[in-house]
Amino acid sequence: MNQNRSLLVIYTGGTIGMVQDSETGSLMPFNFENLYEYIPVLKNFNYTIDFFVFDSLIDSSNVNPEFWIKLAGVIETKYEDYDGFVVLHGTDTMSFSASMLSFMLENLNKPVIFTGSQLPLGVIRTDGRDNFINAVEIAAAYQNDTPIVPEVCIFFDNKLFRGNRTTKFNSENFKAFLSGNYPLLAEVGVKIKYHKEYIQKPNFKKLKVYKNIDRDVALLKLYPGISKQLVQAVLHTEGIKALVLETFGSGNAPTDVWFIEAIEQAIQNGIIVFVVTQCKGGSVEIGKYETSRDLGRIGVISGYDITTEAAITKIMFLLGNINSKENIRELLQTSLRGEITV
Ligand code: ASP
Repeated sequence: MNQNRSLLVIYTGGTIGMVQDSETGSLMPFNFENLYEYIPVLKNFNYTIDFFVFDSLIDSSNVNPEFWIKLAGVIETKYEDYDGFVVLHGTDTMSFSASMLSFMLENLNKPVIFTGSQLPLGVIRTDGRDNFINAVEIAAAYQNDTPIVPEVCIFFDNKLFRGNRTTKFNSENFKAFLSGNYPLLAEVGVKIKYHKEYIQKPNFKKLKVYKNIDRDVALLKLYPGISKQLVQAVLHTEGIKALVLETFGSGNAPTDVWFIEAIEQAIQNGIIVFVVTQCKGGSVEIGKYETSRDLGRIGVISGYDITTEAAITKIMFLLGNINSKENIRELLQTSLRGEITV
């Protein structure tokens, strides 16, 4: 059933593609032409695997909108030539990139599987080998000539996640990603077990790639003792059009008059305030506690169970592509790619 599928592996950087220099001991990117030396078993797949290597390989801390546009552009140009895509990417900002790509690629009807590793491929105990092999198999998995997972996903530590539902939550454990509000799309054991009820269905429409990204969004994480000066400084950042407000628990915030007035003023000045929770699971529920009632009254928008990563990238995407603020407000509360449960 998976015979002769063709895949494009896009290597952008990150730990997975590193080897240890035998002389200096430091990590450096390895030559992909030697990949079969590191993962000889790849040859046993009956797939055609081509590689697209970014000319400057980056640590994913350097990811920015230009990078996303380039990555989406590669998938757009090669879309018709391949059955699936594997993106090798650093883990640090993988959840942001997977979220952003999910928004940029409308009507995606092929698998785009991000993966990476905590240990470089050139290290004996690397998790990169398994992550890579499984990502390849999932990107090539078709049934009745239809891809099983036509979504932007992250594969890590034997688990397949919807990309825009993930957060990197551990910097050294192989279990590095979490999807606190959406079930796994697949689990790998002896077999790859797909949870089809949670996977998007293909719509067979033509892929549309959006390449406008507007970065005029700010993120403010609340903490006890946050000062008026800091809140004001963020809200008065030049050019800012939207604020993601990371609140406590189910959308709670200080009830200090100065705080509520500052947010209210910002909303009246046209800034969109999108409320998410600092918790890794659960949803914003404005009005549940007294400490969120004022926020509801002044017109913030609830992000429900969206992750901060998906919230920021969704706003950048919407600001870049939708003119009317009213439409943006509405779309923020609509599931575009399965990123939010409304
Ligand atoms: N700093 C690296 C990166 O995100 C870590 C990793 O690849 O896991 O690019």
